[in-house]
Amino acid sequence: MGQSYTAKCKKCGEEFECCEGDSSMARLIKCDMCGKDCWCRNPLRKGPAIEMLDLSEKPPAQCECGGKFILGAPSRCPKCRSTEIGVALGYGVTMYD
Ligand SMILES: [Zn+2]
Ligand SMILES: [Zn+2]
Repeated sequence: MGQSYTAKCKKCGEEFECCEGDSSMARLIKCDMCGKDCWCRNPLRKGPAIEMLDLSEKPPAQCECGGKFILGAPSRCPKCRSTEIGVALGYGVTMYD
């Protein structure tokens, strides 16, 4: 179970879409340097692929920024890479499972 929401950076004020948590069909991993999302198919689960997600069997070894994709990496502001982010006011939170 996870959620996606509009986050706001507490440092630079940038607003961006942010996902937290795994879905039932895929695991969410993030780049440990820039916070870029990457969805990986969960090999333990069977079921139709989620078409809206770009699923890969394995995470790319390296992000284009030079960082590594790891499980449990914090969300980051895409602009200044701060991890100090909050939920932006006035937007809904979308839950997914
Ligand atoms: Zn920022
Ligand atoms: Zn990166």
